[in-house]
Amino acid sequence: MMCPYCDSAETRVIDTTRKAHSVRRRRECKSCGRRFSTMERAIMQAPLVVKRDGRRETFDREKIVSGLRVACARRPVSAGDLERVVDRVESRIREAGKTEVPTRTIGDLVIEELKVLDPVSYIRYAIVYLGLEDLDEVRAEVYRLLEESER
Ligand SMILES: [Zn+2]
Repeated sequence: MMCPYCDSAETRVIDTTRKAHSVRRRRECKSCGRRFSTMERAIMQAPLVVKRDGRRETFDREKIVSGLRVACARRPVSAGDLERVVDRVESRIREAGKTEVPTRTIGDLVIEELKVLDPVSYIRYAIVYLGLEDLDEVRAEVYRLLEESER
């Protein structure tokens, strides 16, 4: 870190204050002797979520978790399993590095994970979030799943 007064690269840290999501350092320039502070802060690359009606909202991990809890109610899926699903979905969204992500994309990622985790929870989730509206669609999806699992 160069000195902001004289551009010397020779500075030393004289004090460090660590907080949960940031680090503040008090520095002293070895050339001009002036002191300054630097702040290091995590930059969260959470994209905006674009809803079906076009509205945007901030990415909310809790929303995904609560949707999953409903889908997995009374199924052999632990809270830890759900956290891991959301972790994977969240990191895939962040890795994609987009500034906006449609709810549908998030739903698709969740569904991929659920399919592996528990087929019943998967169907429940699909009914709500994929908007499988009538019995025929649900039945078609169940048959597709059954075929896949027989392979
Ligand atoms: Zn200086």
